[in-house]
This record gives sequence, C-alpha cells and structure tokens, in this order.
Amino acid sequence: MEHYLDIIQKLKEEFPIGTVQFTGSKRPYIPNQVYTDRLESATESKWNKVIKELDINVTHRYVKAIVTITIGEHSRDGYGVAIIKGDPEQDPSGVINAVDLAMNSAFIEALDSFQMGWRDLAPHKTSEKEWGSNPALSHLLSTEPPNGSTPTNPRALTSHICLVCSKPLIQADWELLNHVPNLRRDKMIYCFNDIPAHHKRKIPEFEISNYLLRIK
Ligand SMILES: [Zn+2]
Repeated sequence: MEHYLDIIQKLKEEFPIGTVQFTGSKRPYIPNQVYTDRLESATESKWNKVIKELDINVTHRYVKAIVTITIGEHSRDGYGVAIIKGDPEQDPSGVINAVDLAMNSAFIEALDSFQMGWRDLAPHKTSEKEWGSNPALSHLLSTEPPNGSTPTNPRALTSHICLVCSKPLIQADWELLNHVPNLRRDKMIYCFNDIPAHHKRKIPEFEISNYLLRIK
C-alpha cells in the first residue's frame, strides 16, 4: 500500500469538470459512485467500509446510520439521518429508501473528513453563510499552495494574464477573482476592469470596497 499521505493527496485532487451535479433544489453534490471510484483508485482497493450503527426507528419514522471508512490505520466516522416516508406498516419501501439515504449521507460525510471533493465543491459554496467562503479555506479555491510565495503587495504584477486585455493582473485583481462565485479562476482570468458585468455583480460589496482600498 502506498504511503498514507500520498493516498490522502490523491483523494483530495480535483475531479474532472462536470463532476459536480445539482439536486432539484440546486444544491451542489458529487455522486457517490465518483467518490467510490476515487477511493478505489487512490488506495488500490485497500479501503474498508463498516456500518457501525444502523438505527431504524419505525415509531418515530427515522433511520440513523453511522459508517466508518478505514484507509490504512486511519478511520473516519460519518453519520446520516433520513425520514421514513409513508406508513411503514402499509409500505416497507419507505424504510428501504430511508436506509439507503441515511447510509449514503453517512458514507459521504465520512469521506468529507478526508476532504474529498472539497476543491470541487468550494466554488459552489461561496455564499456568505457557506463554508467555501471561509477565509481559512480560501486555498481550496486557488490552484496555488496555501502558503505559496505569492507577493503580498496588492499592486505587484502576477503571471496571470487577463483574457480580455492580455495584460498581467496585479495581485489584488487576482485575489479578487477568488470572490467571484462560480468562477473557475484557473481558466477565467480577468483584470478588475474586464470582469464581465454578470460576474462582477455577484462579488460581495465589501470585497469590492476592500479591493478599491487596497489598490489606492
Ligand atoms: Zn483586462
């Protein structure tokens, strides 16, 4: 088996474009099969899933599941809860569906603690209340290492070239792109003046004022 840290690195790698899907209510998610496939290839099939707890509560109509994923010597628990729909005594399929749902969410929650899919989901979770907008996790939105040697001078020129004017972005421009929801900063590179209006509108106002202060 490969070194644990190498495996974790592989688990955290970005998935191909188009992997993130959206539920009916527009919540971003990565299908279970994609996670399983990544686990298989990164660990060379040397991972394990154990159902630690499965509580089917017919009286109160819910199912609770705790799943443990083990890679090498490291284990992570994930839990999931689902409501049993309909009357279980008339139609047991409600129970089966709830068990499936609870198990799936427990599985994904356990994988989440290995940071799988974070890079892919972060750009879709940048509204103020969501974790993707947390400054401590902003490195997930960038293709650079978290403690990279990027210049701190906001007016310093970067190696990133604007798609529109072909001029290099200054550091503040480059950092501002992090605050454009749903923008792939590795491909869609714009200087401040050339950020398309429909994208610019979505930048939180305080980020714009912060930007303008920095480049003064
Ligand atoms: Zn430009």
